[in-house]
Amino acid sequence: MERLVKLVCIRYYCCPFAQETVCSMKNSQYLVELIERIGNLLRSEERELGKADGLQPVHVQVLEYLALCNRFSNTPLSLSHYLGISKGTVSQSVIVLENKGLIEKVQDNNDRRVVHLLLTDRGKQVVKNAFANEQWSNTCERLPAQQRERMAEDLSQLLIELTRQHNAQSFGVCRTCEHFTYEDSNYSCGLLQIPLEASETAKLCHEHSLADSKADSTEKTENRCYDAP
Ligand code: SF4
Repeated sequence: MERLVKLVCIRYYCCPFAQETVCSMKNSQYLVELIERIGNLLRSEERELGKADGLQPVHVQVLEYLALCNRFSNTPLSLSHYLGISKGTVSQSVIVLENKGLIEKVQDNNDRRVVHLLLTDRGKQVVKNAFANEQWSNTCERLPAQQRERMAEDLSQLLIELTRQHNAQSFGVCRTCEHFTYEDSNYSCGLLQIPLEASETAKLCHEHSLADSKADSTEKTENRCYDAP
């Protein structure tokens, strides 16, 4: 994060005579502006992507989340926490996506009050198209690999800090979770007391709790899995 701030500082705001505190305030403000602008561009992309299927950006976000999360986190409640939207918006989105045949509801085997939301084949195809959007990936690919890694690391750190400050759930993947163990080529979750498939360890989990030992390591960049389904 510090490197990113310095880079922005040197490039856009600081002259050698500027006061450090003024500089730092401008940098923070500028970072917020940058993130907001990138967010707006992503929303506009999502609007375009959803157009063909008559979907709003929030519907595309729901589908993307369901493609990324693990089998314990595909519930309406987790969706509402991850996207930071109300339960009402979640249930309206679920109705729209269900009516369009993009998701289906499945009752939990152990707790019948819990409903899991699964992508249908059509839903998977819509997400695949969204992830295959080359404009975004090509733009990122044009940056040198080292710079991409550094940005991912810095933004992950920022996300971790913001998550802590907002007392929000961390929603990470197994390898950065304090409950995760890997022994004799077997993956398992200490919290849920279950073995895990290798593919599950790269999925987002609502039970994730960032391991202190991993919070400051380079593994924090793996806090989220971007693989398409
Ligand atoms: S190890 Fe952590 S992230 Fe993985 S399934 Fe268990 S609680 Fe979730």
